[in-house]
Amino acid sequence: MSTTNTVNQKELFGQPIGLYILFLTEMWERFSYYGMRALLVLYMTTSTLGEDARGAGLGWTSKEALALYGWYTMLVYVMSIPGGMIADKLIGQKKAVLYGAIVLCLGHGVLVLTDTWAFYTGLGLVILGVGLLKPNISTMVGGLYKEGDIRRDKGFSIFYIGINLGSLLATLIIGLVVKEWGWHSGFGLAGIVMLIGLVNYIYGQKFLTHVGNFVSIENDPNEISYGKLYAKLFQSPLQLGFTIVLLAASAFGWYTLEWGYGLLFIFLTAITSLLMMIYKELDSQIFKDRFLVLLLSFIMVIVFWGAFEQAGGLMNLYTESNTDRVLFGWEIPTIMFQSLNAGFIIIFATVVASIWAKRKLKGKEASSLFKMALGIIIMGFGFLFMVFAAMEFEKSGTSSMIWLVLAYLFHTIGELCLSPVALSFITKLTPVKYASLMMGVYFAATGLGSKVAGIIGEAASDFGEYAIFSGILILTLIIGTLFILILKPLKRLTHGAEESEKNL
Ligand code: GLN
Repeated sequence: MSTTNTVNQKELFGQPIGLYILFLTEMWERFSYYGMRALLVLYMTTSTLGEDARGAGLGWTSKEALALYGWYTMLVYVMSIPGGMIADKLIGQKKAVLYGAIVLCLGHGVLVLTDTWAFYTGLGLVILGVGLLKPNISTMVGGLYKEGDIRRDKGFSIFYIGINLGSLLATLIIGLVVKEWGWHSGFGLAGIVMLIGLVNYIYGQKFLTHVGNFVSIENDPNEISYGKLYAKLFQSPLQLGFTIVLLAASAFGWYTLEWGYGLLFIFLTAITSLLMMIYKELDSQIFKDRFLVLLLSFIMVIVFWGAFEQAGGLMNLYTESNTDRVLFGWEIPTIMFQSLNAGFIIIFATVVASIWAKRKLKGKEASSLFKMALGIIIMGFGFLFMVFAAMEFEKSGTSSMIWLVLAYLFHTIGELCLSPVALSFITKLTPVKYASLMMGVYFAATGLGSKVAGIIGEAASDFGEYAIFSGILILTLIIGTLFILILKPLKRLTHGAEESEKNL
C-alpha cells in the first residue's frame, strides 16, 4: 500500500509547493492527451487521399470513428482502476506517475509513424500511460493535505486549472501545427510535450518527498489484499449471488452485442464484486455510509460525462461539417473550438470556487453533492444551444458558431461545479488505504460516461443531431433535478465529512 504522509510542507501562495509540481506535470500530460483527442475523430474521418496539407487520414465513416473514439476515451479512464491498484499494492503513486509518463512518451512517439500498426500501438500505450498517471497524480494532490484542511478544495481547483491550461495550449497550438504540417506532426508535438512533463516531474521530486510513497506492510493485520477479498466472496452468499447474476448478464452481452462489450461487462463485474466486499469489510457504519454515497455520486459522474463528452466526438464533427467557422474572413480550424472549454475554465475556475467559498461562510448550501447535481443541470442546459444550432442548420444549411460558444460556456460552468469537486470529495470520503483504488473507480466512471457519449453520438447518424441534442437536454435536466430532490438523505450519509473543514 502507498502512504500519503501529510506533514506540513513549504508553501507558495498559501499552498504546498508540491501542488505546483503536480500542476505542471498534469498540465503537460493533459496537453498531450487533449491535443491527441482533438485530432482523433478528424484524422480517422479524413480521406486516405491526402487532399490538403493535413495529409491522408484513415478514411473511416463518422460512425466507425465515433465507435473507436468511444472505446478509446473509455479505456483511457477505465485503465485507472488497475493503475490505482498497482500504485496501492506494488509501487506507490509516485512511481506509478513516473512510469505512466514514460509510457505516454513512447505512445505519442509511436503515433508519429504513419502505419496502421503504429496507430493502434500508440493508442494502446497512451491508454496504459494515462491509466498509470491520471488517478495517481490526483490522489497525490489529496495527499498534500491533512484531513479537514480547508485548502484542499482550492488546491484541487488550482490543479484543475493546470489540466485545462494544458488542454487550452494543446487545442490552440496543435490545430495550427496540423493545418500547416499535417496530422503526424500534431501527434509528434504531443510526444515532445509529454517529455517536458516527465522532466518536470523528475526535477520536482524534492517537493514531493512526503506523498505517494510505497510502504510495504506485509505484516500489518489491517492490510487488505484484493486476493483475500475475492476469496471471502465465496463465504458471502448475497454478494456471490449478485456476482453470478452479473456474470450471466455479461455472458449474454458477449453473445448479443460483441466480444468487446462482453469483456467490459466481465471487468465491471469483477470491480463491482470487489467494491461489495470492500463495503462489507469496512469497519464502521460511518465509513460504510460514506462509501455508499460515493458510489451513488458516481452515477452523477457517468451521466455528466456521457453528455459532456460529446465535445470531442459529435460536437467536434458538427463543428467541422455543419458550422460556419469563418470569422473576419478567416476559417477557424475545427480543433480550435475544443479550446473554448479549457479557456472558459481558466477564466471561471476561481470565480466559481469563490462563489462556493462565500456561500459556505454564510452557512448556505455548498455540499459537494449539491454542486455535482447542479453541475449536471447547468451542463445539460448548454445543449439547448446545440438544439438551436441544429434548428438553424435544418432551416438554412449552416449554423452560427455562437451556439457552440454558448454551449461550451454552460458545459464548462457545469464541469467546474462537478469535476474538481468530485476529485476532492473522493479524497475526503475514502479511507486512505482505498484512496488510489477509489480514484481509479471514479475515473473509470468518467470513462464509462465517455463510452455512453460515443454510443449516443453514433446514434446521431440514425436519428439526426436535433433529436440527440434535445434528448440529452431533457435527460440531464431530469437526472440533475432528481439528485437535488434526494440531497438531504444523501448528505446525511456523509456523516458531516465536509462540515468540519477549517484552517489548519
Ligand atoms: N477534463 C478533466 C481532465 O482531463 C476531467 C476528465 C475526466 O474526469 N474524465 O482531467
